[in-house]
Amino acid sequence: MSQAWKGLIGFLVGRPLIAILIAGIVVGFLLLFFTHRQKTPVTHRVQHVGLTDKQQMQLGSEEYAKTLRQDRANVIASGTGYAQVQRVATRIEAVARRDKPAFVWKVTLLRKNEANAYCLPGGKIVVYTGILPLTRTDARLATVLGHEVAHATAEHVAERIEREKLTRIALAIIAGGVAVTPAQYTHLLALLGVGSEAATLPFSRKQESEADHIGLIYMARAGYDPHQAVAFWKRMLAASKGNEPPEWESDHPSNAHRVEQVEGWLPEAERAQRGA
Ligand SMILES: [Zn+2]
Repeated sequence: MSQAWKGLIGFLVGRPLIAILIAGIVVGFLLLFFTHRQKTPVTHRVQHVGLTDKQQMQLGSEEYAKTLRQDRANVIASGTGYAQVQRVATRIEAVARRDKPAFVWKVTLLRKNEANAYCLPGGKIVVYTGILPLTRTDARLATVLGHEVAHATAEHVAERIEREKLTRIALAIIAGGVAVTPAQYTHLLALLGVGSEAATLPFSRKQESEADHIGLIYMARAGYDPHQAVAFWKRMLAASKGNEPPEWESDHPSNAHRVEQVEGWLPEAERAQRGA
């Protein structure tokens, strides 16, 4: 059992049952009336999201503007790396747009010696030059961009924000009037992974696997060979043998498990590529 679950159970034991019941009813009510029930693209998982497309775009645009202000001197607007990133992103964006037509897609390449790339809610993508020596080919870069863009189309940040909000509400009701010190309350929130800044929250394992799945189908729909995605993850696996995985991957599922999963989705990806 994880530490978070132990912490939660420890907290619930000794609380009045009625408080737990009320918290359940209130959260159920909020889910029903204040969130949209929708399905993720490709994986068709039912999810509850409170933020609208417009709100997500605003959240992402603010974060994007901040990044560009801070890193203005490092924005790359020419050269082969720039051309490759634009070329691949254009094809991935065209596929993602079918699932999220409201989002405004844009990619920026930043000079940074770090193997990282991400897509903000609403469609703003940032790629660091440090990832290009790892990806090299268009298909491998498409694997990375497909994964990052999938986080945005599957609304993973918005989903996380919703979960955090409901957890806070439920805990406040359950803790209400019962002897819980503010320090204990903060500690409990931290155990449950609640309380960090929304836009920079790490995704859950489940969301990471889902982004792998959706991303693979996206790169295949964009016309890239999905076997190249497997080759890429294998390459990452070999690179991380005996070492810490590269930073951008540290919240991601283990590479060995990832290769296995991606191989399992290959038949679906091959069909997607044929239909491209
Ligand atoms: Zn990810």
